[in-house]
Amino acid sequence: MNCCGIYYCDTANGVGIRTSLYVSGCTHHCKGCFNEQTWDFSFGKLFTPEIADEIINSLKRPYVQGLTILGGEPWEVSNQRVLRPFVEKCKKECPDKTIWTYSGYLFEELTDPDNHRCHSEDTLPMLSLTDVLVDGEFVLARKNLKLRFRGSDNQRIINVPESLKKGEVVLSEYMEK
Ligand code: SF4
Repeated sequence: MNCCGIYYCDTANGVGIRTSLYVSGCTHHCKGCFNEQTWDFSFGKLFTPEIADEIINSLKRPYVQGLTILGGEPWEVSNQRVLRPFVEKCKKECPDKTIWTYSGYLFEELTDPDNHRCHSEDTLPMLSLTDVLVDGEFVLARKNLKLRFRGSDNQRIINVPESLKKGEVVLSEYMEK
């Protein structure tokens, strides 16, 4: 997996001060995508163990609330394969920090075992460590600059632990704020 950006002290993609990791590769190709370069899986540079450790060290700073993973598409199967062990390490070393991820796939697609485009053996383990998922493709006709944490109003901010427990989407409190 390649990554194409790491931002420390990001406040736009989740609650509080966060470290944000942009991964490369996306097959959605939404019209009006904010960063078409990230569609290419070979864009950016290799996500190495050193980069992973740098990110984890940043999460240990007391003022950092958590990690956000976006892209590109973190939930492409080939990206999940690399992100799952990374997220497991983050949670092990920084259990009190939250994990937010973004996806053009819907929660229902990610959790559908028959959906081989985005569901793999890594999906549920990775989802089970995710606190918040912002899901849905970016829809240009529904773009709204006033929205917090999302680009178009079809996208949902999902409370993942509650959704997994109930077996249906439970929206996050941040949807309204
Ligand atoms: S899912 Fe995100 S990165 Fe991929 S095309 Fe849509 S807006 Fe762009």
